[in-house]
Amino acid sequence: MTRCLLLSMDEWRRQHSPLVPKVERVHLQVGTFTCVEPDQLVVTWGDAVRGSWLDGAELVIESVLLVGRCVPCQATYRPDPSCGFRSPCCDHPMEEIVSGRELRIRSVAYAFADQAVPAPAAHPPAPCPAA
Ligand SMILES: [Zn+2]
Repeated sequence: MTRCLLLSMDEWRRQHSPLVPKVERVHLQVGTFTCVEPDQLVVTWGDAVRGSWLDGAELVIESVLLVGRCVPCQATYRPDPSCGFRSPCCDHPMEEIVSGRELRIRSVAYAFADQAVPAPAAHPPAPCPAA
C-alpha cells in the first residue's frame, strides 16, 4: 500500500518537473471498508519516506465511513458488520457501496520555496557612478 502511494507521489512529482516540490503534508482518504489500518500506514509511510525526496512529509489520513445503498428502495444506510451488512430498511444484502472503499490522495500541501525564489544576491549591484 505504501509502495503504491509512493509511486503515485513520484508520478505527481514528475508533473512539476524540473522543480521538486517540498511536500509538507499528504492528505489521504481511506475508506473504513478497506483492509488498511490507518495507524499502521502512518508508521510505514514514515519509514518509507525517510531519506527520500518526501522526507518529513506528514501523512494525514481522513477516514471515510462505509455507506451502502439499499437496492430495492435506494435508501443509503450504514452497513453494520454484526448484521451482515444488510440494509436495516429492507433487510437486503449489501450490493452497492456508496463510499468506504476509497484509497486516494485527496490533496498535497507543498511549496517550491527553495527553488522558485532565487537566492538574493550577496551584494546589491552597485549603482552607476555619477558622471
Ligand atoms: Zn431498503
